[in-house]
Formats: sequence, C-alpha cells, structure tokens
Amino acid sequence: MDSTIEVAGLRKRYGTTVAVDDLTFTVRPGQVTGFVGPNGAGKSTTMRIVLGLDAADAGSARIGGRPYRSLAAPLTEVGALLDAEAVHPGRRAQDHLLWMAQSNGLPGRRVGEVLEQVGLASAARRRAGGFSLGMRQRLGIAAAMLGDPPVLIFDEPVNGLDPEGIRWIRGYLQSLAAEGRAILVSSHLMSELEETADHLVVIGRGRLMADTSVADLVARASGSRVLLRTPQRSETMTVLANAGATVASIDHNAVTVDGLSAERVAALLGAAQLPFSELGVHRATLEEAYMELTRDAVEFGAQGATP
Ligand code: ADP
Repeated sequence: MDSTIEVAGLRKRYGTTVAVDDLTFTVRPGQVTGFVGPNGAGKSTTMRIVLGLDAADAGSARIGGRPYRSLAAPLTEVGALLDAEAVHPGRRAQDHLLWMAQSNGLPGRRVGEVLEQVGLASAARRRAGGFSLGMRQRLGIAAAMLGDPPVLIFDEPVNGLDPEGIRWIRGYLQSLAAEGRAILVSSHLMSELEETADHLVVIGRGRLMADTSVADLVARASGSRVLLRTPQRSETMTVLANAGATVASIDHNAVTVDGLSAERVAALLGAAQLPFSELGVHRATLEEAYMELTRDAVEFGAQGATP
C-alpha cells in the first residue's frame, strides 16, 4: 500500500473557533514528519480528521489515496496514539492489547512483540491504572504498532516521558521511518523534534506556516549573521560598522555582524590588525527558527487569559 498521508484544503470550525484553516501538506514514507505549533494551533484536530474521528467542513485527508474510513483493515494500515489516557485503568496492559488484537483479527503473538518493542514486557501483567503517564504513552504506542502498520500518527508522544524515555522514543521513531514507514508526530515544542524529525509541518492558528526540511528551516532563520570573538571589541565594531555592517555586541568580547560575509569580516580585521577568534556563521537553533515563525500565531501566550 502507498503510505503517503495527503491533507488538502482542510478546514474545521467549532462554533466561532476556526481550528483548521485551509491546511495542505503531505507526509511521505521513510521519514519522520514533525507537526509543530503552539497549543491550540489545530494539530490534534487535524490528526482526528485524518483518522476519521472528526469530520472536516471542507477539504480532504487521505492515506494512500483513501479516506481513513474506507480502509478495510485500519489497524494494519494506520497506527495512532492520540490520547494516552484512553485505556481502562482496571485492565492489565497485555489484556488491553489482546482485546484490541482479537477484535481486529490480529494474531495474539503481536501482544508480546509490541510490549517488548516499547519496553513494557516486564509490566505486561500490571493494570494500566497504576502506570505513569510515560508508561501509558508506551502502551499507546504498543497499541498503535499491533497491526505493524506502514503509517503512524502520534499526538505529543513525548509528553510525560522521562529523559531515558525521550531518548528511546527519538530512536524508535527514526527506526520506524528507516523501515520505510510514514511517521507524523506532533509537538508544541520544537526542541523536542530537533534531533528526531526530518521534515517539519509548522502550523499556527490552523494555518500552514512552513512545510520544509529541518535543515532548510534552520538555514533560513540563521540568515547570514556572523559571530566573532575579539579582545578589542570597540575597535572591531568601529571598523566593521565603517564598512557598512550592522554590529551588535552580545557580551564583553563577542559581537554579531549582519551585512558582511565571514570572509569579508576576516579580511577587514586582518587589514586593521585586530585580533579575533571563533569567527563563524551564526546557526539558529530550531527553537529560534520556530519562535520566528510562530511569533504572531501564539494563541495562548504569556498574557493569554483565555482558558
Ligand atoms: P492543538 O492540538 O494544536 O493544541 P487543537 O486541535 O486541540 O490544537 O485545537 C485547535 C482549536 O480548536 C483550539 O482553539 C481548541 O480550543 C479548538 N477545539 C478543538 N477541539 C474542539 C472541540 N471538540 N470543541 C470546541 N473547540 C475545539
């Protein structure tokens, strides 16, 4: 089966709230696509529509060219974790998965396999009600993997995981993508996906803000700013400003330079016999790139009093 997810012209409104606004993007097999945006941006709504749990007002969401609801054996085609709390607290982990496997015609041996994959084998007989949020996330991921599907959709799977769990999920998502699966994973924190995602779909207030590779987004936000250290900061700033650059000091011996290439900065300082070290191009973090993109789209910012 073709495991591409295609969202086209998707719109969804709840009362007067526009949750998803003309959203178009594609999730391709073989890579981890990060779905990022501030809380309330419309990520969960989009995922619910892709999974046929909510109806769009306009547009379409297709998996392998078909709407989710027309898939013959959904668990073997798409695995999803939307809400880790959606497990009966009195049920043992293995019974929860066994019930899912049996009701979907999947072999019972998958239960042990997926529990092993997500690191929950030793907790198989424990009741889900006693699980930490991190363990419930792992159980939800195990459930998504039951049918060994080529498409996986995870909503904020990093929430509640401890540092070891975060390292685990990063590697796990990448290994699933390396097997050729299409992985869509959401987060409201760009830094969570910095080392995990290959591609990013960034949304704000339901609208697409960027659909780009991680490398391109960072390069765009980094611009052409040069960073350098010098023990003679004020002389350096004068020389570079006289050459037309915009120079700003960031601490007592470091400055940023806009408007001149690193080579030109080196030549000017050499000619003026000013010493410098660590001359390099400033590389934005993914978090900086994200802040830049979403600055105007934060729905519930610091002053946001709306519940
Ligand atoms: P995200 O997952 O990015 O945090 P959501 O998709 O949950 O965003 O929400 C997008 C917007 O739609 C928010 O303003 C949210 O309050 C609203 N919303 C989501 N689901 C519902 C619903 N069932 N009823 C009313 N409003 C909703």
